[in-house]
This record gives sequence, C-alpha cells and structure tokens, in this order.
Amino acid sequence: MDDYQKQIVISMVQGEAVKGAPMRELTTLRIGGKAELVVFPMDVVSLRSVILFAQDSGIPYLVMGNGSNLLVKDNGIAGIVINLRKGFHALKLVNDLLRAEAGCSLGRFIEYAGANSLSGPEYLIGIPGSVGGALSMNAGAHGKEMKDFIHSVEIMGSDGNIEEIERDNLEFSYRSLRLKKGAVILSVLFKLNREQKQVIDERKSGFLKSRRETQPIDSYSAGCVFKNPQGVSAGRLIEEAGLKGLQMGGAVVSPLHANFILNSGDATAKDVMTLIELMKKRVYEEKGIECELELQIVGED
Ligand SMILES: Cc1cc2nc3c(=O)[nH]c(=O)nc-3n(C[C@H](O)[C@H](O)[C@H](O)COP(=O)(O)OP(=O)(O)OC[C@H]3O[C@@H](n4cnc5c(N)ncnc54)[C@H](O)[C@@H]3O)c2cc1C
Repeated sequence: MDDYQKQIVISMVQGEAVKGAPMRELTTLRIGGKAELVVFPMDVVSLRSVILFAQDSGIPYLVMGNGSNLLVKDNGIAGIVINLRKGFHALKLVNDLLRAEAGCSLGRFIEYAGANSLSGPEYLIGIPGSVGGALSMNAGAHGKEMKDFIHSVEIMGSDGNIEEIERDNLEFSYRSLRLKKGAVILSVLFKLNREQKQVIDERKSGFLKSRRETQPIDSYSAGCVFKNPQGVSAGRLIEEAGLKGLQMGGAVVSPLHANFILNSGDATAKDVMTLIELMKKRVYEEKGIECELELQIVGED
C-alpha cells in the first residue's frame, strides 16, 4: 500500500485513521508489529468506501473488534485494519428484541440486557470481546454460545451491500460462524428471554466468580489457545502433558489454566508460536490427540 493510497483511505474515513499503528496496543495479548493503516470508521458510509477502495485496489483488509482472540505476528499487518470499536457501538431495544452494533463491547451489551430484565447472554459475561467479534467466533461459555441468543445479523458484503440474515440461514459451528470472504458484521439482533433482574444478576455474579477462580483474567492473553477436542478439555490435556508454567522467551503457559498462553511483558509473536507448536507436539505425543487452534494468527511472515 503506497502513501497515496493511504492518504485516499484517510480522506474517506469519517473517524480516526492511524498509519503504522502498533497492533500490541489493540490486542489483549499485547503483542504484534505495526499495521500499515488502522481505521476506526464511525459510520456505514465510511466503512463502505474503505472496503470498496480496498477491493478495487487489491489491498487486503482485516476487520477486528477488541482483538481478544488475535495473535498478530511480529512483522505486523499489510493493508488496512478496520476496527469497529470506536464507532458502531449503539444499543437499541425494540420490544424484546435488542439490536447491538458490532463494535459494542460484549460486557456493555450484557449489562444493558440485564438492566432491561432480558436474560441469556449473561452466560458469556467476562468474555472481553466485541459483539461482532464474539459472533464471528461464536463465542461461548457455561454451555451457551452466541448462536443461542440471536435472531438475525446485519452484514456488509465485500461489494458494500448490506443484508439482514436470519439465524436459520447462518452456518454456526463450535467457535465459528461461516462468513463470506471480506464480509463485515455491522450489528446483531438478539432475541432474549424476560426474567427477573435479580435472578440475572445472581447468575452473572456466579459466572464471574468462577471465571476469576479458573482463568488468568488479569494477565495479557488471548483466551483459550486451542479448541476443546470432542469430549475433552484442551486445558486438561495440556496440564496432563506437564506443560503448565512452560516458558518460551516472554510467553508462558498459564499455571492457572493450561489452555491460556500469557505474555509476561516482553513476549514476541514468535515466542508464542514456538510455544504453541511445542504444546501441540507434546499433547500429541502424550495423548495421541491433535489440538486445533482457537486463537487466530494474523499478519506477515
Ligand atoms: C481473558 C480472556 C477470556 C476469554 N474467554 C473466552 C470464553 O470464555 N469463550 C470464548 O468463546 N472466547 C473467550 N475469549 C476469546 C475472545 O474474547 C472471544 O473470541 C471474543 O468473542 C473475540 O471478540 P473480539 O471482538 O475481541 O474479536 P477479535 O479478536 O477482534 O477478532 C476475532 C475474529 O473475529 C473477526 N471479527 C471481529 N469483528 C468482526 C466483525 N464486525 N465482522 C466480521 N468479523 C469480525 C476478526 O476478523 C477475527 O477473525 C477470551 C479471551 C480472553 C482474553
């Protein structure tokens, strides 16, 4: 992407645009080289302009929310990173349907639902993602997943057109929603249940307490590194392979939850990727099970 192209994109965006933005500042793992250009569009018109320009010019783009499931490589990201966190965070209640824009934090959405005596998403409390990121990952906890609460999704395709797709026409699987290449989730319409606020609040407190006891939530991480293989906990497999506390440079297998890799402060993406390969190898040798990544690795080699 040359300077002229960057200037064009910057002039198109109603919202902030940063050249050479360090991705470590935009991810919960606090790792990653610079992105050529990060834009924070505030409206659909800017977003569409950026996507169409990128498509026409053959420039790659990556859409992101809170960066809580991403490992960005040390060489950074070529092209445009579209971050929906600053715009796209409105919440609107229409009867019992709640529309949340994709950049809204999951935590704020869950609070808002609870305050309106609407239950369901409190099962996911403590997941530090955005609504769009959580839907794209079909994030889940305590036996519930994003797909369980949704009515429909508003998506902008890579051609700039917007369509509303109903739940039954979406392909969800464990920690995944199949989207067309370059598609951006704009908002999600949730169908929730009426329940007493106090009951919802009690459930939330219980889930938060158990998260605090079982996950290293105050450290830099990107959540679970591996998906749970059928019927087994990846964390347990890693723990039983004796890998808790294993360190590679600044990256450490969490002593609290073995499926979390922590950045102790100065970890590089290379440290994390080396540790991941070692964990996979050792689990396969000890248990004969191949672990599949849940964490998404992006960026340039
Ligand atoms: C401490 C901790 C605990 C966690 N606990 C859980 C847990 O219990 N359960 C769980 O499932 N996950 C958990 N996670 C992982 C992570 O929080 C979730 O996957 C989260 O939903 C990701 O949302 P995000 O906005 O951060 O997405 P990002 O990391 O920004 O992006 C993730 C993926 O979604 C895509 N994406 C983001 N926004 C959009 C959009 N608007 N349109 C299209 N694609 C989009 C990105 O391109 C990328 O492929 C945890 C993470 C941490 C750090």
